[in-house]
Amino acid sequence: MDANRTTGLRGRVIRAAEYVLEVKGYVSPIELLKQMGFLAPSHVRMWEKGVHACLYPHIQAGEKKLAGSLSIFDEWAREQGLIPVQATLRASGRDQSHELRVTADANPEMEAFFRTCYAPADITPRKLDALTKKLNKPPDLVVFMTVSESAACQECGADVPRGAFLFQEKNEVTCLQCADLDHLEFLPSGDAAMSRRARKRSPLSAVVVQFNRRAKRYERRGILVTSQAIEQAEKECLSDADQRAAQRARGAVQRKREDKKLVAEMAETICAQYPDCPSREARHIASHTARRGSGRVGRSAAGRQLREDAVRLAVVAHIRHEHTPYDELLMTGVAREDARRQIASRIDDVLTKWMSR
Ligand SMILES: [Zn+2]
Repeated sequence: MDANRTTGLRGRVIRAAEYVLEVKGYVSPIELLKQMGFLAPSHVRMWEKGVHACLYPHIQAGEKKLAGSLSIFDEWAREQGLIPVQATLRASGRDQSHELRVTADANPEMEAFFRTCYAPADITPRKLDALTKKLNKPPDLVVFMTVSESAACQECGADVPRGAFLFQEKNEVTCLQCADLDHLEFLPSGDAAMSRRARKRSPLSAVVVQFNRRAKRYERRGILVTSQAIEQAEKECLSDADQRAAQRARGAVQRKREDKKLVAEMAETICAQYPDCPSREARHIASHTARRGSGRVGRSAAGRQLREDAVRLAVVAHIRHEHTPYDELLMTGVAREDARRQIASRIDDVLTKWMSR
C-alpha cells in the first residue's frame, strides 16, 4: 500500500469514496462531497426541489481543496477500474422538464463530471443495467402523511388534519386536491408484490412517507395509485400466489445458507482479533451478531473497518452479559450507567486476556 494512500486529503477522499461505494453500490461526486462533509444533505435536497438554482455555491470547501478532492477522486476511480455510468440529475417534484445545474454558468465539462457515477469494476451486466436505470429514472413524487395537529394548504387554505396527506413542491405545501393527486388511493406498505404491481399499472403514483419523531427520520408508509391499478394488481397477485409462495420458500433456504457462511466468517474475524477467546464463545457471538445484521458488510477497506468495529462491540456485549454480574446488577435496580461503570474494568480484563497470544 503506498504511503500517500491513507494520509492527508488523498486518504480522506479515498476512504469516503470507498465507503459510499460500499454502502450505496455506486459513488458519484455529489455523494462523495456529502460523505466528506463538504456538502450538506439539506442543501442537496433544496437544490433537487428547485429552491437553489445551482449546487456549486453550496459546497463548503475552499476552491483549492475542492479541486484537489475531485481530481483525486477522478484518478482513484480510474485506478480502480470503476465503470462510469451517466446519471440524469433531475429535479424532484413534478417540474422535471429541465436537468438540474451544478455550476452557475452550466460549464459543460463540470456538468458532465458531476453527472458521472461509478459502479464497482466487477459489477454484473444485469446489475449495471439496473443501476443505469435507477440513476436515470425520474424521482418519485413524495406525499407526506402529516404528524402535527394542524397544517394548512398554502394554495386553498384548507385545513389538513393529522394523518392526512400533504404534497410539497418548491417549498410550497398543498393539499392533495390542489396537487391534483386526490383521485389516487392509498395502498399501505406491507405486500411488496402488490405495491410493485400497482405502481406499474398506475399512470400516476406517489410515495407516501411519514416523519417518525422517535427515530427522527422519514419512513415509507405506502403509495398512492389509481383504484384500477389496485384492482389489477390484486388480480395478478391472486393468479400467481402459489408460485410466489414457492419462490419465497426458495429464498428463505438461500438466505439461511448465506447466514451460515456469514456466521463462519464472523467467527473467524473474532478469533483473529481475539485469539484466546474460546471457540465455542466466538461461534455464539458470531451467530448473535450475524443475526442482527451488523455483519452484513463487504470486502472493501471500509467494509472491513465496519466489521472490526462491529466485532468489538459484539464481543464487549457478550462479555458484559456472560462474564460480569451486569445482568444481576440491573435486576437489583442498579441504574444502567452505574452498572456499566462498575463492570468496566472486568470487561477490559477479559478483552486483554482474549487478545493476548
Ligand atoms: Zn388546497
